[in-house]
Amino acid sequence: MGIRMFVTEGLSSFKNALSDLFFPPTCPFCDSPDVDSGAWLCYDCTDSISKIEEPFCSQCGLPLPENNPDGALFCGQCLIATPAYHRARYGVKYKGTLREGLKRFKYGGALHATDALSGILIEAYRRHYEHDEFDLILPIPIHRKKLWERGFNQVIVLTEKLSRHVGIPMNRTCLRKSVNTPPQAGLTRHERLSNLRGSFIVSRPDAIKDKRLLLVDDVATTGSTITEAARTIRKAGAARVDALVLALTPMRGNDRP
Ligand SMILES: [Zn+2]
Ligand SMILES: [Zn+2]
Repeated sequence: MGIRMFVTEGLSSFKNALSDLFFPPTCPFCDSPDVDSGAWLCYDCTDSISKIEEPFCSQCGLPLPENNPDGALFCGQCLIATPAYHRARYGVKYKGTLREGLKRFKYGGALHATDALSGILIEAYRRHYEHDEFDLILPIPIHRKKLWERGFNQVIVLTEKLSRHVGIPMNRTCLRKSVNTPPQAGLTRHERLSNLRGSFIVSRPDAIKDKRLLLVDDVATTGSTITEAARTIRKAGAARVDALVLALTPMRGNDRP
């Protein structure tokens, strides 16, 4: 270990110890004081997070039926209409304290949840993708009206951490949300897709031309946002688009224990 790193790390752990003494850490998802030193979350929240695991569709990443008797690789939807992306993958289920934590982060500005949430995103990346698979990472943008209301795009904050961790640059400006679409809740997959149709634009096609891109989002239900964003990006000249979403809303048929 170089002297500089030794001093930096030493100072940093000294600072952490001091801050633990004066500001004991609480769990950013549930406020429990039961957080071990160096941990992001309390034991209960850590324990309650459940990963999206196989079997899932090789392309869209959505869970396949529990018994999957034929050992199918693709879901019926992908066999009927192939999405514009190469693969989509999901980290964990959007439920319980994870859902509360993400809502606090997104709508309540609870930025102290950043490390926990980006840690889950980074873990999902490592589980599903190789370290050198992409040239560029693009966070899913929000419309400027939503940005003005919320004050920040939570996806950019998480993607920035992922980008730094995997060493792949992030571009936060070339994909834009040009239409402020109404909320998707209560809509079917088909309605969601038509609601979003044409709502993204690529402002700098030269930045993505012939590149291998990874789209990142925080929550998805049917995957319609990444489907429409990927369609727009492919049309603008990207070589390949994959997607990584932090959390997937469990729906009937995709909420296996
Ligand atoms: Zn907790
Ligand atoms: Zn599929």
